[in-house]
Amino acid sequence: MALNRNTALCAVALLILSLAGCASSSLVEQASIASTTPPKEIDSMLKECPREIHYPQAFTAAMPLAVAKQTIATRLAALNLRVVWQHQRGAVFVDTVEDRLRLAQLANVVLPGLERYPSSFFTGIGLTDVVLVKDLVVSQQQRRAMPDPANAAIIYADNDDELCPAGMEMRVHHELYHFIDYRVFGDFYHRDPVWLALNRGTIEYGRGGATAYGIGFQNLGHPSAGLVSRYAAYALEEDKSEVFGWMMTPGYAARVRQWVEGDEVLRAKQRFMIEQFSLRTAGAMNADFFARIAAQ
Ligand SMILES: [Zn+2]
Repeated sequence: MALNRNTALCAVALLILSLAGCASSSLVEQASIASTTPPKEIDSMLKECPREIHYPQAFTAAMPLAVAKQTIATRLAALNLRVVWQHQRGAVFVDTVEDRLRLAQLANVVLPGLERYPSSFFTGIGLTDVVLVKDLVVSQQQRRAMPDPANAAIIYADNDDELCPAGMEMRVHHELYHFIDYRVFGDFYHRDPVWLALNRGTIEYGRGGATAYGIGFQNLGHPSAGLVSRYAAYALEEDKSEVFGWMMTPGYAARVRQWVEGDEVLRAKQRFMIEQFSLRTAGAMNADFFARIAAQ
């Protein structure tokens, strides 16, 4: 969820190094891996969780791991995506009841989230790989998701805790937006002048999403005019990802539609997203598409 400037620099370095075919890129990556297990993070979406949103339990602890993996691979292949089961910042799922349950918890939310997009969408943004692991650690912080555009990938993780399911889906879209922003601007932290203009000078952002970790942060909706969530206030790039994430997720999307009725700045941000994604998908993700999500 949070972007960390060291992570981004590392990703950029990896991209540059990998383009140059430099074998030392693994050293750069190794240097940024946490050497200790970070403290558990309480799910920041627990307090503002639309509990009325239920996800089909297509995966369960009773399903053999190999069957679950094959089913996930097949469903992602229908979206032109490949599943990857390992990452150096996380651990692999193994064939135990506990891990089958953890993978089920993750897949039951991540797959429906990704399946909201048109099947051609991911090829269009240059995303090829979805990494599913457990216990993801980034910059000594426990994370549930991370964009990795240098490897055309996004990582989603189960961290074995009480989770708001819709909150996890919101992260699916939130990270996708970071990925798209990076692809468009070549930078996670682009000071998008179009977005800044939407704020009309009323919003001063904080010091980045990473500063929300380790403090028991809870992400509540619409804390003030122009902001979809408390987390959106941490940085411009988080604001964009939060608006999109909330608009894409049942339960949260309905709240956004209510708030924009009396909030012109937030309404302008909602319009920005609809226009951007309608254009990107030849009208498939238009205003009606987002209205249908909000109606679920
Ligand atoms: Zn983020």
